[in-house]
Parts: sequence; C-alpha cells; structure tokens
Amino acid sequence: MTGPAAVQTNIAEAEGSHAPGADAGLVEALAALVGRDNVLTGEEDRRAYAHDRLPFANFRARSGRLAGVMPRLAVRPGSTEEVAAIVRHARQHAIQLIPFGNGSGVLGGAIPLAHEVMVDLRRLDKIISVDPQNAMVTVEAGMNGAEFEAALNAEGFTCGHLPQSIEISTVGGWVACRGGGQASSRYGKIEDIVLGLKAVLPDGRLLEVRPLARRSVGPSIRDLMVGGEGAFGIITEVTLRIWKKPEVERGVVLAFPSLEAAWETARLIMQAELRPTIARLYDAAESAERTQGLEAFATRPILGIFAFSGTEPMVSAEEEMSLVIAKAQGAVVAPDGPFHHWKENRYVAYSQKWQAAGYYNDTIEVTGNWSAIPGMYAAMEAAVRAIYPNIHFGAHWSHIYPEGACQYMTIRLPPMPEAEALPLHAGLWEAIQSLTLDHGGSIAHHHGVGVFRNPWLARELGVGLDILQAIKDTLDPGNLMNPGKLGLRPAAGAVDVRRGG
Ligand SMILES: Cc1cc2nc3c(=O)[nH]c(=O)nc-3n(C[C@H](O)[C@H](O)[C@H](O)COP(=O)(O)OP(=O)(O)OC[C@H]3O[C@@H](n4cnc5c(N)ncnc54)[C@H](O)[C@@H]3O)c2cc1C
Repeated sequence: MTGPAAVQTNIAEAEGSHAPGADAGLVEALAALVGRDNVLTGEEDRRAYAHDRLPFANFRARSGRLAGVMPRLAVRPGSTEEVAAIVRHARQHAIQLIPFGNGSGVLGGAIPLAHEVMVDLRRLDKIISVDPQNAMVTVEAGMNGAEFEAALNAEGFTCGHLPQSIEISTVGGWVACRGGGQASSRYGKIEDIVLGLKAVLPDGRLLEVRPLARRSVGPSIRDLMVGGEGAFGIITEVTLRIWKKPEVERGVVLAFPSLEAAWETARLIMQAELRPTIARLYDAAESAERTQGLEAFATRPILGIFAFSGTEPMVSAEEEMSLVIAKAQGAVVAPDGPFHHWKENRYVAYSQKWQAAGYYNDTIEVTGNWSAIPGMYAAMEAAVRAIYPNIHFGAHWSHIYPEGACQYMTIRLPPMPEAEALPLHAGLWEAIQSLTLDHGGSIAHHHGVGVFRNPWLARELGVGLDILQAIKDTLDPGNLMNPGKLGLRPAAGAVDVRRGG
C-alpha cells in the first residue's frame, strides 16, 4: 500500500518510551547548561512539541494519533554559546536534536520521528543591531517574525519578508525553510534577503558567514543553511537586508478576460523590470470567491491584485507602465475592494476553519516557468478532479519573477472517514508533485521539504541529493541533527511518515 494511509504510527511508541524519569541524567546535564526551568519534560510540554502545522498531522490528530512520535524533552537555550554546548553534549552522547522555531512549518520539518530532543530557539529573541548605513539588520534566530518587522518599522525600515505566517513564525525558521513573503516579487525570497548568519554545526563548531554585499570565494556556504531545515546546523543569528519603509503604497485591482491574459501581464511586467510589491493572480475558482457582486468581473472573471510602493514618482511610474501592459491584455481597472480585503486579512490562516469542520484541507506550492504554467495548471486540475470529482481545487500566483511564478494550490476534500480520505489525499499530493516535475518545475517554492516531500527529492535534485547526503554524512556522521528530513537518511528506528514508501 502507498500513501499516508500506509503509515502506521505505533501509539505506544508515540506516547513515549522516553518517560521523563528515564532521562534524569540528560535532564541534569542540560539543566547545568541552560537552567532547570529551560528543560521541559512534562507530558503536556512534550505534546506541544510533537507536531507542527503539517495538515496530515492535523488529520491524524482527529483520531488522537500523532504523525510522528513524542519528543524526548525540549530544551530552551538563551544564547549561541548555550546552543553550542547543547550540540556538543548531544554529539558526545549520540542524542538526536531538532531545532524548533515556532512550529508553523507545514511539511513536518519539526516533527520528532525518533524521540529527538527539541531545541526551542525562542529565547534568542532580540535584534542585535540595525545598521542604516549598510542597510542591514542582525537579529537572533528565535525572534518572532511580526515583532521583528514591527521593531524595524518603528525605526522607519522594513525587511521586506512578510509571510502570511509572520505572526506565528521565527526569523530563523524563515531562513531554515527558504521561505517567501507576500512582497517577494519586489524584495525577493529570504535567500535574496539573507546577507550573513551564525550557525552551530553538528559538531558544536560555530559557522560564521559575515554579511557582505557579494563575494567570490567558491560556492555559497550560506546556502547550506538557507533551506537546510536544521539538518546541517542550528542557525542562531542572521543578518538581513533592510529597506526604507515605503512612503506610498497603492493597490490596483484588475479584471482580466482570461487566466492567459493575467499570466502574460505578470510575465511582461516582471520582464519590463517593474517590481510590484504585491502581485496576485487568482484562477476562476479563487477569483469568484473574492469578486462577488463586482460588475467588472461579469465579463472578465479573473482577478489580479497589484500594489506598488516607494516614493510617489516611482509608484506612479510603475503603476502607469504596468497598467499599459495589463490593458493591452484586455484588463480593466476594477473597484479596489478586493485589495483592501486582502490587505486586512493578509496574515489570517483560512485552513483552520476547514480543518475544524472536518474537511481535509491542504495547500501545495510549486514553481513553474511561464512557458510551463498553463499546461501544468490544466494538467493538475484535470488530475485532481479525476481523483475526486467534487474536490475544491483553486490556485493563485502570488510570487512572480521574470522567469516564472509560484503556483499555490488549495485542495479540499469534504468530511469523510479517515480511511477513505488519506489515500485520496496521498494521491492528490502524488499527482501534483509528479506533474510539477513532468513540467520541469520545482516541487516546492517556499514551504520547504520537511518530511512530507521526501518521496520526490531524488527526482527533484537528481545527483544533487547525493551531494547533500555526502555533506550531511561528513558534518553529522552520527545523523543526529534533524534526521530523516529534507529527503536525507532517517535515524535508525524512526517512524516513517513518508508517503509512497
Ligand atoms: C497559515 C500559514 C501560512 C504560511 N505562510 C507562509 C508564507 O507566506 N511563506 C512561507 O515561506 N511560509 C509560510 N508558512 C510556512 C511556515 O510558516 C514557514 O515555513 C516558516 O518559515 C517556519 O518558521 P518556524 O519558525 O515556525 O519554523 P518551524 O516550523 O519551527 O521549523 C521549520 C523547520 O526549520 C527548522 N528550523 C527552525 N528554526 C531553525 C533554526 N534556527 N536553525 C535551523 N533550523 C531551524 C526546523 O527544524 C524545521 O525543520 C505558512 C504556514 C502557515 C501555518
């Protein structure tokens, strides 16, 4: 049998062969490093670290089960030195560790699979310095995203990385997952924003990548951590680009006659070197949800939301030039209600309400080049409807580049018995990820790999996965740092939450 339904989590194992009492020696050793208050061993505390926001784990939780297992315990270091001390102790005693940001990941990257020790980084929560001359900020990795951005805003800056999950994620988590924010079309994804970092390697040594404009000293070591998902080290500090907070922001809502016209507009805008702060195109299903009662969409059913920001002359020029491109594709300017609605709700997570009502709601984001997107989208819609004709399937494109875009899809099955739903859910993932690769795309644009995307990593990276595994084996010969994630070898005895195995 294939798919998540094949995953058999042993409940006894999940409940924890590592009862706190059995770990007295470890608790004592960690308490000596970080203080007893920062070593969490209670059942309730451990349960809070047993999951992230992986939808599959939410489905399992309805019947009281975990997707992985309970962690051994959680430890909360307060400095880079304490992180290093924990890592050195873990290496000496062959203890597996998982860095934990805020558990907002949706691919199971922070889920324990082998009773690992969770290293909660949220006490590393301060901005270390703001450097206006070089336009950079240095911040500890565990700082909450919204608090970080608010502190920058108070000084007249933005970091430009504004994920929907900004209120529930950490800066280090953004970097570890190679995330993307809502303003990525202007400021780039996090890999374009990170200038430098500090990380503790699996042997306890400190890696420091000094923040510089550019360098020419071999392949980027920084990029081992940007998207490393905790497998190659624990990020403790990052230096990010900052920009002046824009003086003006103007939203424009467009009604397009077709998706093709919307895609073409986005492509031409980016290839004309225009950089809207927000660019969001919705397919017919998602447009209809957002444009009810708006006359402009009666004949032009596809919604596009753009925002331009900066100084007034820049905003006017970019807006004007973008509108020329859009109008040539048959778009008309519509009332700006959908822009304001989006802005007011930009950090709200909609999936919770569906999960709570028993639906099987999930999202999958992939990257495709412009030439591939129309065929990829059509093939995916047909494939998911072949799997379950009454499925809710909707897509939008909200991270656009000169070469292509992120296609962000919502798939939703109605309430039904878990035994029926999980194989369907597995089939949907298999169809969407395989079709992405068939169309030359990447299986992940910004959510990362975690554990749930493991089955497709070999096809995605080819020999590149062997390179990553070789680096992992060298840096972490005991396979102690978040083992079994990012398509890499699991720990001995780890629970298998992968699909298709
Ligand atoms: C409603 C919702 C909306 C979302 N929207 C977006 C979005 O717009 N853009 C986006 O990119 N993502 C989004 N996500 C996904 C998620 O928020 C991001 O992946 C986020 O970057 C994870 O941060 P975190 O601090 O919660 O990390 P966690 O979930 O705690 O960890 C994620 C992974 O990173 C590792 N990790 C965490 N911190 C460190 C560290 N300091 N050093 C090394 N490894 C570390 C963990 O081990 C794990 O493998 C969304 C999630 C939800 C639930």
